[in-house]
Amino acid sequence: MKSSKRVLVTGAGGFIGHHLVTHLEGLGAWVRGVDLKYPEYGLTDADEFEVLDLRRWDNCLQATRGVDEVYALAADMGGMGFISAHHAQILHNNSLINLHSLDAARVNGVQRYLYTSSACVYPEYRQLDANVTPLKEEDVYPAQPQDAYGWEKLIAERLCMHYREEYGIVTRVVRFHNIFGPLGTWDGGREKAPAAICRKVAVAKLTGAHEIEIWGDGEQTRSFCYIDDCVIGIHKLMESDYAEPVNLGQDRMVTINQLVDIVATIAGIRVTEKHVPGPQGVRGRNSDNTRLRQVLGWEPTISLEEGLERTYAWIEEQVRRQLAEPIGVTAEREYLSDPAKTPSDGGWQTDRRSR
Ligand code: NAD
Repeated sequence: MKSSKRVLVTGAGGFIGHHLVTHLEGLGAWVRGVDLKYPEYGLTDADEFEVLDLRRWDNCLQATRGVDEVYALAADMGGMGFISAHHAQILHNNSLINLHSLDAARVNGVQRYLYTSSACVYPEYRQLDANVTPLKEEDVYPAQPQDAYGWEKLIAERLCMHYREEYGIVTRVVRFHNIFGPLGTWDGGREKAPAAICRKVAVAKLTGAHEIEIWGDGEQTRSFCYIDDCVIGIHKLMESDYAEPVNLGQDRMVTINQLVDIVATIAGIRVTEKHVPGPQGVRGRNSDNTRLRQVLGWEPTISLEEGLERTYAWIEEQVRRQLAEPIGVTAEREYLSDPAKTPSDGGWQTDRRSR
């Protein structure tokens, strides 16, 4: 039975947003999803889904009408390959989305607003070593994020703080550390490292060409958090009484080469790594989960191996289908799924694709 709570998830056509809608529906909320596009890999569970460009103020007003809470996930983003090459586009698009979404929520009397920030806000100078000290929330200043993506996230964090202090809207800020799982982008240029590695290993397995390319020497380190833990954490933070930013990630750090080894073991093949020049981001990054544990009395529990098993199985299936597609179908699918090529002002569209 539905609770009386009405919730908006922006970015509901994307990876985390799609899973979050399902999670919140499971908890009994009434959910509106908004995005430039419908989810690519499955039907949305949202009660209502509107295709809207949230860079536009009028669309943000429409999206935030009549809801109690907003989970703000919409962003023009991708993996290192994307965010290291599109600084102007990212800073422009995401600044507009963030400014207009939060202000429209305020105008419409939204009670709670959760903003999804990123570990990319942390300063480069704390992430120069692969054996990095885990990042605490207060490490963010003096600010020196690596990319425009990190600066944009940091400004939006501050916007939330000032709106809370000056307008009284309750805000929450979560800093994700590499979220991964099924139903996320796995090809096309916006995919992140776990999905890209699963795809490369699946192609190696299914074609028999066992050499895979890795950007850099593969000794750069990260931690990776499975999507099911992520959506639980997001909801817990929204419900909490804590207003400062909180890390949400795993605190087990691995190298990219180790990630490849784990995925290859799951796939049951041996691969040869070919290290090639490419964007690598910071040298090392890990989450300090002290505050997460204190604030939520909880932390992610799904192991990297377990999460990768589920993710790899889904991506192998996608690769298998793609390899079986006749020439031309793939190009058409990529064209249809690219948000930049989707009509940007969808207006009022009642979703015929929700359950
Ligand atoms: P995603 O790219 O799958 O989802 C983002 C969604 O926002 C996309 O569906 C996209 O179409 C939508 N969007 C972009 N521009 C829009 C616009 N103008 N109007 C409406 N919708 C628009 O990314 P994700 O991995 O699901 O990330 C969700 C949020 O979490 C983002 O804010 C992202 O920056 C943040 N984040 C994610 C990670 C991660 O590891 N996935 C890490 C740190 C932060």
